[in-house]
Formats: sequence, structure tokens, C-alpha cells
Amino acid sequence: MAQKKGTLMEYEPVIGLEVHAQLLTQSKIFCGCSTAFGEEPNSLTCPVCTGQPGSLPVLNRRAVEFAIKLGLATSSRIAPYSLFARKNYFYPDLPKGYQISMYEFPLAVDGFIEIMVDGRKKKIKLIRIHMEEDAGKLKHGETPETASFSYVDLNRTGVPLVEIVSSPDIRSPQEAGDYLRKLRAILQYLEICTGNMEEGSFRCDANVSVRPKGRKELGIRAELKNMNSFRHVEKALEYEIKRQTSLLDDGDEVIQETRLWDPDQGITVSMRGKEEAHDYRYFPDPDLVPLKVDEAWMEEIRKSLPELPDQKRDRFVQQYQVPEYDADILTSTRAMASYYEEAVRLFPEPKIVSNWMMGDLLKELKHDEREIDQCPVTPQHLAEMLGLIKKGTISGKIAKDVFEEMYKTGERPGKIVKEKGWVQILDLGEIEGAINRIMETNPKLVEDYRKGKEKLFGFFVGEVMRQTRGKANPKMLNELLQKKLKGEG
Ligand SMILES: [Zn+2]
Repeated sequence: MAQKKGTLMEYEPVIGLEVHAQLLTQSKIFCGCSTAFGEEPNSLTCPVCTGQPGSLPVLNRRAVEFAIKLGLATSSRIAPYSLFARKNYFYPDLPKGYQISMYEFPLAVDGFIEIMVDGRKKKIKLIRIHMEEDAGKLKHGETPETASFSYVDLNRTGVPLVEIVSSPDIRSPQEAGDYLRKLRAILQYLEICTGNMEEGSFRCDANVSVRPKGRKELGIRAELKNMNSFRHVEKALEYEIKRQTSLLDDGDEVIQETRLWDPDQGITVSMRGKEEAHDYRYFPDPDLVPLKVDEAWMEEIRKSLPELPDQKRDRFVQQYQVPEYDADILTSTRAMASYYEEAVRLFPEPKIVSNWMMGDLLKELKHDEREIDQCPVTPQHLAEMLGLIKKGTISGKIAKDVFEEMYKTGERPGKIVKEKGWVQILDLGEIEGAINRIMETNPKLVEDYRKGKEKLFGFFVGEVMRQTRGKANPKMLNELLQKKLKGEG
């Protein structure tokens, strides 16, 4: 497998992702306890989720419905029959000593998610989507007095999860990021998961290996964990691809293992050798009957599906005549798409609205790391501002300043323009007055211009703009200035 030192080999990364998404149900997957986040530790527990002897799990119908939604939305095949198994391992945050998870018979298989790669659509296949329960959380002592203790909080124990396992179809960290963003968008469009990575509602592990370009067999892979944002997933993959490539270049071998991403140092470190499935002694959970999804229920759920990101993107291209690239970004979250459609409803020039959103608006949001639902500029304000440009009240150039001010203060554009005195000068007399003053104070330059030094025209435009503080209507100024300089006015 390994190449001799000194040979130059081109490698190709092979990436598969496993995502755990927390389903937005009110209660846990096998009991009635609340799934609320950030409550008093161990206040949301009962005999079932703390694994007391004799307690029995009862499957949450709503959780199954949500998982089926995701299956249908990713064109997966919903299994008519699936089964919960026990995954046995010991850890202090797992009171039963096993996790209930689907193993041999998952809920959904053979779906796909579409991403854009170099302007083309690429399908990333999904091997499976299955349901499972979450484990609790350990909190380690932080003060000198408590440093030798760890505490366990079982509020999260039994919260419903779906695990989405992709095929190793992903070929770059960028593709991995795009896949995750699309998957999260689908979950959010369906309103079945918040997608909040910091709160742990959307978690990603990555399997990554490299192989000489053109080779079919897969290389030895590492599993990466502990990546808490899309950016970290991309960075961890970049690091790991480099690490494995240089091992192979040096004639060394990659070891199959689990590695932790260390965001502070920007490296991955070995955590443990990779477990095999048989280490977990899976067997069907005797407390739960097989899950059967009948055709009628599936159809009912299918009918309840909202318009999904890809469908919305295609509709935007059709209905608003915006390029596919723009439409893809405008539909990247449900909130962004609603913002756009509301602004277009109020100012029905879709391409202009799109340009402002893709330009100034996204630039500001990205700079502040804000989501669109935290944007101080409402769709109403954006539409009002575009109306002011159209009426000629402000110039397109001034509009940039108006927008900045709107973003800073959250004020209406009309109010800002009035208060700042940014209204465009449309009064011919006023513009003429300014031109006259400039010409009178610069008789020599007027003469030079008339003798043929035409590039002086820019000087006069600049001076008039300076005097009117950029507010003279450019078209009127140009026309009038030309006449005046030629001695016609
Ligand atoms: Zn409970």
C-alpha cells in the first residue's frame, strides 16, 4: 500500500459523514420526560430514562413521524419493518448499560442529498437513517475542591436522535461542509431539528482516508470526533488529509483509529483504536416490538412535507429568473428564503432584491456572524430603500451609505435619509447654481476645457458633487454640465 519515499503521488481524499440530529419532540423517545435544554441537572428524568429495573420503554410516535419525514425528504426508502437493538457498553452517562438504537433493520435506506460542486449537481448517497436514544452528559469538576469529581446529568438521556450515515462519496472538506449545510437546511425546513451545533442538536463525526488518485480500493480510515461547527469539520478534515498524505509519502502506514479534533491547536490527536461492531454485542431489544410503518401513515406524512430546499431553489430560478447560484444561496435556510420572498412581494424586482441580499446584506451578516433572522434590516426596510432609489429620492451610491446606517441602527430608510439630509438633488436650478459657482471660480480651466482638454470634465463633476455632498442627481448633472461647459446653457 505505502509508497516508497521520494515518489511523487497524487492522493484523493475519501470522506463519509455520520450526523446525529436531535429530534424536536416535546418528550423523550421512550418516556414522557421533557426534552428541554438547559434545565436543572437531573430534573427531567424518570424510572425509564434512568434505567430502573422493571421500567419499560414506550416508543414516541411523534419521533418516528419526524424520522420518516427526513427519510422521505431525502428520497430514502422507508422500511416497512424496523427493529430497535441494544448496543451494549459501559459509560457513566448511560445508566442502563446499553443504548437503544436501530442496528440490522434501520428505518430508512438508500436516500441521497444533492450539493453543488463546480456549478454541477452532485448526489451524496445516504446508506441509512436510523433512530436511537441519546446518552446523558458528564460534567467534570473545575474548582480545586471539585477537581477530582465528575457529575452526571441525565436530562439528555433518552432524547430522540436520528443518525444519518452517508456513503464515502465526499471528495473534499468543502464538499463535506456543503453536504452538512444542505442536510441541516433540510432538517430545519422540516422543522424537526434546530440544527444548533453549539447546543449539540446537530453533531458530526467524519470518516476520512486518502488513496492514490485513480485507485478503486479505499485506504485505511480515521474517524474524527469533537467538531462543533462547520468550520471545524472543514479544518479537521484538511488537517487529517495532510497528515495521512504525508504518512503515505514517507512510506508509513495509516492506523485505523478514532481521533479527536483539538480546535485550539488545530490538530487531530489519537483517542483510541477503532471499535468493531461486535464489541457492542448488539441484540434485538426484547422490551420493544418491531416498528411497522404502514402505507397509509407514510402517505399522510408525505402529504405534510413542506417545499424543500432543492424544490424551492428550482422554483426561484423559474419564478424570479435569478441564476441557480443565487437561488441556491437564497434558499440555503428557510428564513433567508422567506426574507427574500417578502422583500420581492413589496418591491417586485426580484433580481435587484437578490443583488442587494447577495451583496451588502450577506456581507454585513457574515462579518457579524449573524443569521438572517437576527438581521436589523427587515425585508420591509430593504424594499422601502429600493423604492427610494427607484423614485430617484436617493442615488444608488448614497443607498450604500443608507443601507449601512439601516444595518447599524435598525431605522427605516426614509427616516435616515431625511435626518441625514441625504435626499438626492433633483432641482435643476440648484444643480445649475453649483455648476455656475465652480465655473466662476475656475475660469482658466473652463477655457482649457473649451480648447479641447476634455478630461477636465471629471474635475468639474467631482467639484459639483463635493459641493452638493454627493447628492446631485448624476444624470442631470452630466447633461447640464456638458451644456454649460460648451457654452450652450
Ligand atoms: Zn424519563
